[in-house]
Amino acid sequence: MRADGVQKYQPGRPCAPSRTACGERACPAPKRGTKSGPRAAAGALRISGRARPAHRARRTCGGAPPPEAPQAACHTGACLPDAGHRAAGRAAPDVRCPARRDGGRRRRAERRSAHGRGAHEGPPYTIAIDAGHGGTDIGAEGVINEIQLTEATIGYLEGWLTQDENYTSVRTHAADTFSKNTERAAAANSAGASLLLSVHGNSDPYSSDSYGLECYPQPPGRTHHEDSLRLAHLIADKFGAAGQRLRGNAGVRYIYYAGDDESGYEKQVVEESDSTVYSEQTFGLLEKTDCPAVLVEQCFVTSEADVAAWGTDDGCRRAARLYYEAICEYFGTEPLPGT
Ligand SMILES: [Zn+2]
Repeated sequence: MRADGVQKYQPGRPCAPSRTACGERACPAPKRGTKSGPRAAAGALRISGRARPAHRARRTCGGAPPPEAPQAACHTGACLPDAGHRAAGRAAPDVRCPARRDGGRRRRAERRSAHGRGAHEGPPYTIAIDAGHGGTDIGAEGVINEIQLTEATIGYLEGWLTQDENYTSVRTHAADTFSKNTERAAAANSAGASLLLSVHGNSDPYSSDSYGLECYPQPPGRTHHEDSLRLAHLIADKFGAAGQRLRGNAGVRYIYYAGDDESGYEKQVVEESDSTVYSEQTFGLLEKTDCPAVLVEQCFVTSEADVAAWGTDDGCRRAARLYYEAICEYFGTEPLPGT
């Protein structure tokens, strides 16, 4: 660790000492001068070097380096949940006659066409569900492998969403297959997803004492930041109420990557209270998804206690229910009965 607490990680090397060592990958940091819009307007700060805020978290993660070409943040139009449903706080299942239902679908399709893909006015909402790892990519290793947690949780969540007529779920990649961030984001975008949830397990290779949940929404300055942040808080609140420890300030944080292929990347964790718009990019999947998206580190796979609570089959089932309830609350629908 350097004197300033910042660690570099190098392409192809294992994680540096870290308490958030999930292998999720980010977009490379954008080149200077390539960004415009709200970031530039806000005087985007460089994370590396002296401009780093004093309160910036000192922990860094050393997942595998971002392997993909630089990509602009998503700025492709609205993908907001229906304001009416949110105001009403609840949306009843669609019980209209088929003719009226079809008319409603047609009008919604026309509005989407008029306003751009992703403008969703009502159910059924398409939820993109992302098992953070798959196939040859097993994720972090610990008491269990991360892939076990992600696959089990996404499977249970898919079950809830499939049963609920207010939702349609789409996996960003098939079970037991590896898929790049770009491919997973493209799967969500092409499905016209209203929301994306990516499930991961955290790890700390240097201590089995690290535990708890972290939610990473799309950071300030992104098109869907506010809705992404709202979902992140809903998820964190439900896990907190269920007894899971919320890391940082109430379990919601941002991650940024700085660096380049030659010098390596620094992964910086910032608390949600820091609303600064930074030029550095966050997780690649979040940057490339055209709708509100949240990446969740459900628990630490290196913690016996965390795995016992949230990494076993029963723990993943309970976690999936909480994600489902958070999604229902986000859209204002009534969750199906169950636990
Ligand atoms: Zn992961």
